[in-house]
Formats: sequence, structure tokens, C-alpha cells
Amino acid sequence: MSNSRVYNFAAGPSVLPLSVLERAGSEITNYRGCGMSVMEMSHRSKVFLDIFQETQDKLRRLMNIPEGYHILFLQTGASGQFSMIPLNLMGRTGRANYAVTGNFSSLACKEAGKYGEITLACDTSDRNHCYIPRQEALKLDKEASYFYYCANNTIYGTEWNYVPETGDVPLVCDMSSDILSMPVDVSKFGIIYAGAQKNMAPAGLTVVIIKDGLQGRETPYTPLMMNYQTMIDKDSMYNTPPCWCIYMLGLVLDWVEENGGLEGMEKLKWQRAGLLYDVLDASRLFTCHADKDSRSGMNVTFRTGDEALDTKFVQEAAQAGFVNLKGHRKTGGMRASIYNAMPVEGVEKLCDFIRAFERNNKR
Ligand SMILES: *Cc1c(COP(=O)(O)O)cnc(C)c1O
Repeated sequence: MSNSRVYNFAAGPSVLPLSVLERAGSEITNYRGCGMSVMEMSHRSKVFLDIFQETQDKLRRLMNIPEGYHILFLQTGASGQFSMIPLNLMGRTGRANYAVTGNFSSLACKEAGKYGEITLACDTSDRNHCYIPRQEALKLDKEASYFYYCANNTIYGTEWNYVPETGDVPLVCDMSSDILSMPVDVSKFGIIYAGAQKNMAPAGLTVVIIKDGLQGRETPYTPLMMNYQTMIDKDSMYNTPPCWCIYMLGLVLDWVEENGGLEGMEKLKWQRAGLLYDVLDASRLFTCHADKDSRSGMNVTFRTGDEALDTKFVQEAAQAGFVNLKGHRKTGGMRASIYNAMPVEGVEKLCDFIRAFERNNKR
């Protein structure tokens, strides 16, 4: 059966490790002898509470999350955090500082504007978000309740290669598409969050890592379900959590641990990305969207400059077993999302395909 699997370069939901899917499959009707599926259990049952706790513990261990940080398993997607963050944090000073480097930070910034005054740390739309500004270029706001940025721009294929220094202003980071792809110093952050469907688990789970003390300053109209305090007090179980996704996250974390942890993931990340960028840089047909010093290790965006040829590439690639390579409409061209679960072999074969395509389509 595994022979018929394709190489899936989708941006999200995206590829999961085969061994994780197989293990989930083997446990799907009867989880470790308890006579039912994880999908069928009460979220208050001992069996599920153990899964929940183990998953939290594994994430804490893998990401080296210090004491004094809460781990929340929420719903409403990464986009839900666009509202939840200002609804809880804006009350500190009434202002927030946003770095707009792509689609999702732009949406988050617009949403936050409903709840307070926004100052822009940067806006890279002048060059269609093909770069990340350097620290010196950021316009920091010392009065901001928080500084917000998106670590990896899934659509444009750029990635911050440093953690911004913001002094006493808490850092809030959307890591949806590069969480678990390298070690991070969690203690530098106020909030790290990620929609799970890129690099962690199936869709339906949002992981939030929040420093204790940032909760409790919500606006009076903050909905109960969007209040960090509620979710911290109830350990993410004010209501039914996304049980199946949490279980799947646990399996993915086991897989990450077995494959060298976050150091291992980081090595693989730049191995995969390096292979692709090398082929694209050597090519006379393809160009990359992102500036060299801002390139993402997770989403590689490239094009031929000829829309018809791009379409041909995407179609022929799909026929050859490399699927979901069409770029987002905002960038056009192609995008190869090469998350943790993409085998290096899949990228090597894609590189062969790219070289062959270039030979057959000389201009
Ligand atoms: C996919 C993505 C989102 C949106 O995630 P949803 O869970 O669909 O709301 C936000 N930020 C980044 C960086 C993403 O890649």
C-alpha cells in the first residue's frame, strides 16, 4: 500500500510520517486493548487524560519549554489566535507592534486593529514579501503591549533567521509552519503558537505556548472561549478538546524524538532545502521568489516566469507522483512545502524531475 503513496508537497494540511499513520491505523479501532478508538473516548477518561498529559510532557521535553510556560491545546485554527492575542494582551497599553512580512501576519495585524492602536515594525509588501528585514530596520515601539511576527511565511517562502530583540516588550510568534523544525529558545518568547496541520498533526488543533502572567488582562468583552485564563485554569478542557489531533500529535512527537529531536529536524530541514535551492540556483529556467538571505527551509517558492510553463510543470510533476506543487495565487509559480515528514528522498527525486524538466523545456 505504501508503494502507491505520492510525494505530497502540500502547504497544509500536509504530509505526515508514514510510520505515524501506520501506527494510528493499527490502533484505530482498539487503542491498546481498551476496546475502543481514541475518537470514541470521553476526554475525561483516564486513558485519554494519560494521552493528553504524555503529549504535553513530550512537547515540553522536545522544545525544552521552561517552567512558567503553559501549553494549551486549542481549536479555531491559527487564525483564531489573530483575535485571541489582542483580546488578551492589548489591554496592557492599548497598542501593539506588528511585523508584516506576509499574508498571515497581515491578516493578524488587521484583526488586531479592531482592538487597539497598531504600530508597524515593518511591512514587506513593497517587494511582494520576498524578504525579511534585518533587526536594525525594525521600527520598534517601546510602548507596545507586545511585538508580533510570523516566523515562517508559508505563502511567500521566507523565514526569519533570527529572533527579534524587543527589550521588555513580549514577543508573540506565529510558528505554524516552522514549529518543530529546529530548536528555539522558548524563554525569549511571550507566546508561541501554531496551527497543527503544517508540521505537527492533522487539522483541528492549535498549540499555544504562553508565558505565565500574560493571561488575565483580557478586555471585558473577550469571549470566555477566547480567554487564555479560562483555558489555563481548565488545562485546555473547559470544553471538549480536539482529542484525536492531540493523540496524533503525541505520535508525531514520538517520531520526532526517534529521529534526532529538534536538532535532527533542523539538519534534515536544511538538507532538504539545500538540495532544492541548489538545483534552482543552478537552473537557467527557474528563479526563486525569496531573497537568498531570507529563504525558508520549509516552503520553497519558485517560478519559470512563464505562466503556461508553470502550469505544465505542475501538471507533469503530478503525473510523476509529486503533487500539490502549485504556488499560492498571491505568488504564482510553484511552491514545494518540505515539512519534517517529507523524506529527503522525495526532495532528491523532485530535484531530478526539475533538472529533467529544464532539459526538455529549453528556452
Ligand atoms: C496556515 C497558516 C495559518 C492559518 O492557519 P489556520 O489553522 O488555517 O487558521 C496561519 N499562519 C501561518 C504561518 C500558516 O502557515
